[in-house]
Amino acid sequence: MKLAYVVACTHTGSTLLTRILNQNPRIFSAGELQYLDRYWHPTGRRCSCGLHALECPVWGPVFWRIARTTELDMVPISRVSSERGLEWVRALSGRLSSRGKNPFGAANRELFEAIESVTGAEVVLDNSKSVWRLLPLVRAYPQDVYVIHLVRSPEGHVASRMRRKKHGFLDAIVGKYLRTNLLARASLRPRPHYRRVRYEDLVSRPESTVRELGERLGVPFHDPFEGESRASHDINGNEETKSSVAASLRPDPARLGKPMEWSAFQRALLAVARRWVYEG
Ligand SMILES: [Zn+2]
Repeated sequence: MKLAYVVACTHTGSTLLTRILNQNPRIFSAGELQYLDRYWHPTGRRCSCGLHALECPVWGPVFWRIARTTELDMVPISRVSSERGLEWVRALSGRLSSRGKNPFGAANRELFEAIESVTGAEVVLDNSKSVWRLLPLVRAYPQDVYVIHLVRSPEGHVASRMRRKKHGFLDAIVGKYLRTNLLARASLRPRPHYRRVRYEDLVSRPESTVRELGERLGVPFHDPFEGESRASHDINGNEETKSSVAASLRPDPARLGKPMEWSAFQRALLAVARRWVYEG
């Protein structure tokens, strides 16, 4: 089992990154596995290939494989839910950390191995982004989980949030950007396989970013722009997954809008975020 996990804020380009990595036949992009339980019904949501997950050539066989061996409750496999808080506090504190006693880790291992066996990929890429889903996995399998911490410049992230979802400045920078990235950095950087990737580097130098990540993951380089786009079977994939990889790299001017004008207070907070998260 080899898991590459993208931890990031939303609006950081993680869909773009996972699409580029999915072009490598040794890597399978699974999308946001934290929402897998929503696909586990004949009337559930559709895979990004357009089929219901149980009819999809990847997720159908994966579901049957894991259902055969365990009485799976899909929620604990996919999400660390608030009702189960105490369970995860125990897992994080180490009392359930050994392989046999961490049910979340053990059930997920079964899931990743089923995906590897159905797809033939060596690396499963999970784009869930949540630090809370990742921590028990890293704790259970420190040598098998590769953390890709994707960060965008604070100015770009905050502007994107404020434009698209009408978040206020403080919510965007303190509630989202600093909270997520500082938690991810503090808890994951000391672990064996941690790599920070800047969104701006990914967009300006996609090949070298992918080459370096591939080396870390132990898979040979595959030119992401060579050949046709590989089929996407992302859980919770969005419309962007239907355009070509090269097209996704071109920024959409309509989305960028006018440059933001920051107040002195906002500039000061952005500078702190830049130093602690983006440059630190
Ligand atoms: Zn599919």
